[in-house]
Amino acid sequence: IRFADLGLAPEILKALEEFGYTVPTPIQAQAIPVVLQGHDLMAGAQTGTGKTAAFSLPLLQKLLPQASSSASPARHPVRALILTPTRELAIQVEESVKVYAKHTALRSLVVFGGVDIKTQTPSLMKGVEILVATPGRLLDHVEQRTVQLGQVQMLILDEADRMLDMGFMPDLKRILALLPKKRQNLMFSATFSNDIKKLSEEFLTNPKLIEV
Ligand code: AMP
Repeated sequence: IRFADLGLAPEILKALEEFGYTVPTPIQAQAIPVVLQGHDLMAGAQTGTGKTAAFSLPLLQKLLPQASSSASPARHPVRALILTPTRELAIQVEESVKVYAKHTALRSLVVFGGVDIKTQTPSLMKGVEILVATPGRLLDHVEQRTVQLGQVQMLILDEADRMLDMGFMPDLKRILALLPKKRQNLMFSATFSNDIKKLSEEFLTNPKLIEV
């Protein structure tokens, strides 16, 4: 199986080819069609399995028809929100998204704590379709009204088990309450504890399960 067989758009395939990816990893081969079909997903996958591309590629594909070349911020509302437990992971995920999105008009940005919030505000207020964030800093931006989450269509929880271990459950609940009810949810976790099962019951609707 090749990426082209998964139904990805030419501008995404082109970026993959330039980056040297030819064959999808098992998590990618399984997750991409499921996400493209619009299902919620609970995926068990460790770092190193290619999980980032497994959610980023179909995410880009789903947002493509809504990509706007307009400079107006109003034309670039956040449509996909990717939450990660750490700033290192957030940075890494957004770097990958940027590579995969390079031939599209979709914009991405990463925001995380531990740095002056003011440095993130101008880019955020220009408008981005894909926002990668750590939960606490995202809520700071919500409070400062530098981000608006009313048009989020896709929510991705990356390394959900680590988010729970780090005590992000209350933040996650607050963020969830700000999102439109009708949206697609993807959850990635290296482990399947009872807490993760509970979280998935709370956040996912009829999820497809994939474990690699
Ligand atoms: P991840 O599990 O998302 O952190 O990805 C692990 C590593 O595998 C990263 O360095 C990716 O760039 C690389 N990678 C992901 N998917 C593929 C693929 N289909 N072919 C080759 N390398 C890949």
